[in-house]
Amino acid sequence: MKKIIEEIKRLNIETIKEDESLSNYTTFKIGGPARVLIEAKSDEEVLKLVRLFDEMKEDYLIIGNGSNLLISDAGIERPVIVLDKNFSNITMIDEVTLYAEAGASLKSLANKALELGLGGLEAISGIPGTVGGAVYMNAGAYGSEIKDVVTKIRYIKDDSIAELDASKANFAHRRSIFQDKGYIILGTYFKLEKKDKKDIEEEQRDYTQRRKDKQPLEYPSAGSVFKRPEGYYASKLIEDAGLKGLSVGGAMVSKKHSGFIINTGSASFDDVVKLIEKVKAIVLDKFAVSLEEEIRIINE
Ligand SMILES: Cc1cc2nc3c(=O)[nH]c(=O)nc-3n(C[C@H](O)[C@H](O)[C@H](O)COP(=O)(O)OP(=O)(O)OC[C@H]3O[C@@H](n4cnc5c(N)ncnc54)[C@H](O)[C@@H]3O)c2cc1C
Repeated sequence: MKKIIEEIKRLNIETIKEDESLSNYTTFKIGGPARVLIEAKSDEEVLKLVRLFDEMKEDYLIIGNGSNLLISDAGIERPVIVLDKNFSNITMIDEVTLYAEAGASLKSLANKALELGLGGLEAISGIPGTVGGAVYMNAGAYGSEIKDVVTKIRYIKDDSIAELDASKANFAHRRSIFQDKGYIILGTYFKLEKKDKKDIEEEQRDYTQRRKDKQPLEYPSAGSVFKRPEGYYASKLIEDAGLKGLSVGGAMVSKKHSGFIINTGSASFDDVVKLIEKVKAIVLDKFAVSLEEEIRIINE
């Protein structure tokens, strides 16, 4: 590891941190130290890092806003690349097309679209992720998914920058090709539609209010823990099983939204994992439905 850190330092990247607590990089506020964490600011920096890691046969982890991640308290030995606000330019390509770097938040992208009178992002504007994390997850809300507005993705393939047409990205419910191949997303092209700014603003406000009303936004969490099982809603199954408020240590099934597990203050990684296992076992027992995690659990 010492050797890798020395090599990373030779790349002339401004922000390299050692033994950095990952609880500061996840919305769950859980996660031990990263041995080395690099905040990349451009395509070139990401490419340099990936080439180095491939050359050294070193695996790595990408983090966007950490809003879908549960990371072990033991931390992470492999290098962590953070792609967030330092890598977040949004450019207008033509009158209905925007390009956003992977670290741009969906909120800032939606705000830019509003400023330009472009609709299409309203329903997903409140998802607290980056463009990269949202494309990786095919994030969605209120009947929309990010795939509905994505046309092309700029990414790293075989140590070079390439572009992938959205039709080849294998988008499905909370799935994309990027999960299967481990490619890094550098940025995404969005095709939007001209729309009255007042309507966009009103819709965004309405969706934001719905989140405030239904979700425990006052607590750290990673959003809905489980994917929607075919023919059911995970949160309804959990509520019907009487599991609202069920706790392990500092982790609790939210009383406001049973699909969420919240960190009530001092939840450990183990608390959350044990609670997830309990919820899955009880739902399986009561309804014969296997819940599958939507959140990405990193335990190394
Ligand atoms: C309060 C709350 C509400 C939420 N509501 C919703 C919702 O309505 N709908 C929904 O779908 N999700 C929701 N989520 C979950 C989460 O916000 C989304 O999954 C989001 O898209 C994750 O983006 P991120 O940048 O935080 O990714 P991260 O959590 O940082 O990463 C998620 C995964 O993507 C990978 N990744 C991140 N960036 C890149 C990149 N540039 N290239 C390659 N891989 C990358 C990571 O390695 C990781 O495996 C919610 C979460 C919270 C906390």
